[in-house]
Amino acid sequence: MNFIPLLLSLVAALLFMQAPLPQELLGLKAPAPIFLGEGPTDPALHPPSTGTLKAVMLFARFPDGEEDLAMQELHQLLVPQAAEFFESASYGKLKLEVTPRFQWYAMKGSSTDPSYDCSKHDTHMGYVQEVVAAADEAVDFSDYELIYVVANKAPGTFNSPTFNAHGGDGLRADGHEIRHAVTFGNDVRGKDWGWQTLVHETGHVLGLPDLYSYDPSQGVYKNIHRHTGSWDPMGFQCHSRHYLAWHKRKLGWLDDEHFEVVTNGSRSVDLSHIESGSGTTALVLPISQTEAYVAEVRHLSEKHQEPGVLIYKVSVAAHSGRGPIQVLPAKADDDEANPEMAKRYIAHYDALYRAGSTFEDEQAGVQIQVRTGESGGFRLEVTRAKDR
Ligand SMILES: [Zn+2]
Repeated sequence: MNFIPLLLSLVAALLFMQAPLPQELLGLKAPAPIFLGEGPTDPALHPPSTGTLKAVMLFARFPDGEEDLAMQELHQLLVPQAAEFFESASYGKLKLEVTPRFQWYAMKGSSTDPSYDCSKHDTHMGYVQEVVAAADEAVDFSDYELIYVVANKAPGTFNSPTFNAHGGDGLRADGHEIRHAVTFGNDVRGKDWGWQTLVHETGHVLGLPDLYSYDPSQGVYKNIHRHTGSWDPMGFQCHSRHYLAWHKRKLGWLDDEHFEVVTNGSRSVDLSHIESGSGTTALVLPISQTEAYVAEVRHLSEKHQEPGVLIYKVSVAAHSGRGPIQVLPAKADDDEANPEMAKRYIAHYDALYRAGSTFEDEQAGVQIQVRTGESGGFRLEVTRAKDR
C-alpha cells in the first residue's frame, strides 16, 4: 500500500474541515450566515450545484385522493423540460438525472391528516419517511441525493414544498442520510406550474431563496411578485427563462471572471447576453458591505421582447421571501396598456434599460449609462462619485 496519497488526502481532509465557510460573494459579506440567503451557498447544507444531481421520483397515493393523471404523465409534466432547463441555464454544468419508480405507494392516512403537514419540518419528514420506507425494498437510496415525491390529487396536498435537513437531522435509508426532498402537490397540474415548479423547488434544494414576497398583507399576484416578477424562477416561475446572474454565481455556473465588480472611479464595461455564458455577464456595484447593484443583459422571451439591461439590487443580509433581490425597473408597469404582458409576466415586464437610458442613485453616487455594444451586447458607462 502506498501511504503518501493516503497521507495527502488526510491532510486535505483536515484542511477542508478547518477551512472557514466562505462568507463573501462578489464583494458582499453577510453579517451572519443566512439559510437560503444571497451570500455564498453553504456546501455542508446543500448538494453540489454542478456535476450530476441524482434524484429518485416516487409516487404516493393518499386514500382520500383521486388518480387524475398516470404516473408517466406526471413524470412527463415535471421532469424532461426541467432537466433541459438546468442543462441550458447552467451552460451544461448541472445535469439533473431523475430516475422514476413507477409504482403508487399507498399512504396510511388521508392527505388532510396533520401528520403529513408539509409546513412543519418534522411532519414533512414523516411524510417523506413513510414513502421511503414503502419504496425501500425496491430502491437503493444510497444512489440518490434528492427525493421527489409526487402525490395523487388529494384535498390535503395543494402545494409543493421543499424539505432540507442539516447533516444528522435527515432521514436514513440504506445506510445513507436523505437530507433533500420535494413533495409535489396538486399545484403541479396547473398550466405552467409543472416542470417550472420542479425548477423552483430544486432551486431551494441548491440553496436559493424565494424572491417573491411572503408579506401576506395584500395577497394579489402583482404585489406578491413586486420584487422580481418573472426575471428568475425563484420569483414568478411560470415564464422565467433564466436564473439571474447573481444566482448563477451562487450556483457556480458562472465564475468571478464573468463579473466586473466596480468599487470606484469611472469605467466602460461591455456586457454579453446572459444566455451566452461567456465574456463579462454582469456588472456589480457594491453600495455597502451587504448590498450591491447588479446589471445584466436579458429579455423575457424572443417573442415578447428585445434584449436590454436589467438592473437589480442584491442584499446578502435579507432573508428568503423578504426581498433579497429587487429589480429596479427602467419603467413602471402600465398594465392597462399591456394587458397580455401583465397577465403573462405579472410584474416588471418593462424593467429593461434600453440604449440611451441612464440608471442613477444619487445618494450612493452611482450612475450607469446604457449604450449599444457589440454582438448584441451592451456597453455600460459606469461612474462612481463615491468610492466603496
Ligand atoms: Zn419557494
